[in-house]
Amino acid sequence: MSTPAQRMVAEQLRPHGVTDERVLQAMASVPREEFLSPRMRRHAYEDRALAIDCGQTISQPLVVALMVQAAAPQPDDVALEVGTGSGYAAAVLSRMCRLVVTVEREPALAEHASETLRRLGYDNVEVAVGDGSLGWPAGAPYAVILVAAAARGVPQPLVDQLADGGRLVIPVAFSAEEPQDLRLYTRAGAEVSYRSMFPVLFVPLRPG
Ligand code: SAH
Repeated sequence: MSTPAQRMVAEQLRPHGVTDERVLQAMASVPREEFLSPRMRRHAYEDRALAIDCGQTISQPLVVALMVQAAAPQPDDVALEVGTGSGYAAAVLSRMCRLVVTVEREPALAEHASETLRRLGYDNVEVAVGDGSLGWPAGAPYAVILVAAAARGVPQPLVDQLADGGRLVIPVAFSAEEPQDLRLYTRAGAEVSYRSMFPVLFVPLRPG
């Protein structure tokens, strides 16, 4: 007997470049349907982004898995997520590191995600309300930073809050029309460099 999340791993993630067993285990353990409204639940294991409240989306599972894999969270790491949305990606991340701080600008989404995470027992996730393009200085530095909304360029506070050896995964937008570039930034001392991963389509990172 396998769960829907385990089948998602076997059918959608393993064949598409997700090879890190810890990521696959984390993805298999988080019930995506619990992060959706009753109306959307029957779509929970389709490999696509789905609507949540406030005109936002829960990211496509494959994209979440590839972002987490690129960021390579370690058991002692503290991670920052910008754009909590439903809380799904924070839950996945929480299975692989010590603490996740996740920042959401919509109070209603933050509240709902926080309730869901608490109900499901993800007790190493802290949900904060604010403008995540400023990062969350109180918890810095972070070994891992995941950004779930597309920015015009990388917000400097996020770079500043990246630990030595840290990994930042962020979709970077060049214009509203073009696909965004999902990038992995890494810090080695004062040097920050990036590589492009693949084109993506995220909701915009909004200021304020
Ligand atoms: N990781 C989420 C997907 C989030 S979609 C999940 O797994 O469900 C992107 C989210 O980023 C939206 O909820 C949006 O409200 C939020 N967002 C947009 N701009 C933001 C900002 N400046 N700071 C924090 N959150 C922001």
